[in-house]
Amino acid sequence: MKHLVLLGAGHAHVHVLEGLAAHKPRDVRVTLIAPVDAQLYSGMVPGFVAGHYTLDECVISLKRLIETSGVQFIEGSAASIKADIQMLTLSDGQVIDYDVLSLNTGASIDFEKIEAVMPGARKQAMFVRPMPVFVKLWPQALALAASRPLHLAVVGAGAAGLELAMAAAHQLRGPAYPPGSRITLVTGSLAPAQSYPPSVQRRVLRTLEHLEITVVQESCVAVNEGELVLGSCAKLPCDVPLLAIGVQAPAWLANSGLALDEKGFLAVDHFQQSTSHALVFAVGDVASRADSPHSRSGVYAVRAGPPLLRNLLAGIGSQALTPYAPPARTLNLLSCGSRYAIAAWGPFSVEGGWVWRLKDRIDRQFVQRYSV
Ligand SMILES: Cc1cc2nc3c(=O)[nH]c(=O)nc-3n(C[C@H](O)[C@H](O)[C@H](O)COP(=O)(O)OP(=O)(O)OC[C@H]3O[C@@H](n4cnc5c(N)ncnc54)[C@H](O)[C@@H]3O)c2cc1C
Repeated sequence: MKHLVLLGAGHAHVHVLEGLAAHKPRDVRVTLIAPVDAQLYSGMVPGFVAGHYTLDECVISLKRLIETSGVQFIEGSAASIKADIQMLTLSDGQVIDYDVLSLNTGASIDFEKIEAVMPGARKQAMFVRPMPVFVKLWPQALALAASRPLHLAVVGAGAAGLELAMAAAHQLRGPAYPPGSRITLVTGSLAPAQSYPPSVQRRVLRTLEHLEITVVQESCVAVNEGELVLGSCAKLPCDVPLLAIGVQAPAWLANSGLALDEKGFLAVDHFQQSTSHALVFAVGDVASRADSPHSRSGVYAVRAGPPLLRNLLAGIGSQALTPYAPPARTLNLLSCGSRYAIAAWGPFSVEGGWVWRLKDRIDRQFVQRYSV
């Protein structure tokens, strides 16, 4: 029996599990290692913050897929990999050997690195990631907002920061909360939505204005109790600082022996195979395509699932691998707090209630497909 180890239950691995449930080769033993047998679907988290979804609606339960695929589930997290001897160690000390290893663990937050550039953040701020922690803390912020108006400041104006600021504005201005809560978006040196084309930037700015979200184009350099310190030394009073400022590579990759990119993410080729170790595959935010770099987003992680399944089965059976080209552009759907969204496809964009309904349908179908 060959041993295939799936590390992390990210977007692509749920598809691999579905594929194995339909057909698992008899001579392959598969182990899934993840902190829980469920996956919080990030695309719906802003909708949870806005009050459109319950937390349960945003979670893909993997129980059924694990059962039907005959995969062994180990509840745990990888703490180190020794790729040269095909072995990984979990944080509880368990050692696991593999014939083929597939990583879909997402990216990490390096709290020490953030604390170095933003002293006080670790103690005073709420972080969007890890998302399972954030979704447990958010109801506490809402409970506070129910007792008095809050000033919430979102630091970071990428897709996640924008969606969360708009979602929070929608929720806190609702009938369950006293009037007067304020939302500020601290964007760093760039204007909001800089990674989007100009037409989307204009739509985002209009929406932020409509939602009365104050945009501060400055960096946050420290977080004190009750305030953010900005690059200009100005202080922004704030009850709830929410950090949505990008991701880092998992620290446990550093001494793995695997080839990494300049930021420490696992370097993979057109087969989504490690550029240094043929028995290791990686997809999603943990990986960097050396041949065809693309942004880190759930859409790319989802699309990587079917070719990953094919190549894992081929790899473990010593058959030829199939190259995979990530899409040159993807449909980006940005929810705007209320049941309204902006769609971006390359330079083109549209917005409306129907865009939100489309996003809602796609997201719910994704969660239901793998849970039910
Ligand atoms: C608020 C928010 C909204 C977003 N909305 C969108 C959106 O609408 N569309 C979009 O395309 N992208 C969106 N993103 C980005 C998206 O969340 C990520 O790009 C995506 O989750 C990456 O998917 P992944 O499969 O690589 O990993 P993840 O979804 O991060 O999954 C990784 C899994 O691996 C597990 N894991 C982690 N470490 C270990 C370990 N050491 N050992 C074992 N298991 C481990 C985790 O618990 C998790 O289950 C959003 C991000 C945020 C923060």
